[in-house]
Amino acid sequence: MRIILLGPPGAGKGTQAKRLTDKYGIPQLSTGDMLRAAVAAGSETGLRAKAVMDAGGLVSDAIVNQIVADRIREADCSKGFILDGYPRTVPQAVAFAENMKASGLRLDAVIELKVDEEALVGRMERRVAETVAAGGTVRADDNPESFRKRLAEYREKTAPLSAHYQKEGQLVVLDGMAEMDAVTDAIGQVLEKA
Ligand code: AMP
Repeated sequence: MRIILLGPPGAGKGTQAKRLTDKYGIPQLSTGDMLRAAVAAGSETGLRAKAVMDAGGLVSDAIVNQIVADRIREADCSKGFILDGYPRTVPQAVAFAENMKASGLRLDAVIELKVDEEALVGRMERRVAETVAAGGTVRADDNPESFRKRLAEYREKTAPLSAHYQKEGQLVVLDGMAEMDAVTDAIGQVLEKA
């Protein structure tokens, strides 16, 4: 099962991807997590990406395309994967399709979680509060200014992916404002048909 989850920051992609990981035994590939790990490790990629990420901008297509191309060839991806946060631009989607074709792989579903933008800032603030309460480290880009920039980047560069995948006949749009369990059920139904 090879799945792309689309949706703005705070739409619940990460939460749903984790649930799919448990259900199907396939890994969640979050480019955000991979980039944060590169930043934490102080690798060259991390050093190049950090300032852009902190400000809520997008890391270059070349960097993320390479990260994903390498990652999906790892052994734990042999039965599939859930992409969370990639692709995020139409050129990334094109590069990913070429990459999949070259590997003889097929995408099973592209699922977009649709949410009201108004609700997203509140969700981000709740995530920050929960992280602080749990004694965790708050993401450098979970602040109102970077979050606004992330939303603007989504609108400008990522939202066009809906039309792209619609044209390819691969897009399914679900209500991301529904209860978390209802969203999980809806995704499950889509995947049963895929
Ligand atoms: P996320 O954890 O998905 O919210 O991603 C956090 C940040 O990592 C984003 O705001 C971007 O700076 C960067 N990032 C993650 N995935 C991508 C991607 N596919 N393309 C470009 N930048 C990305």
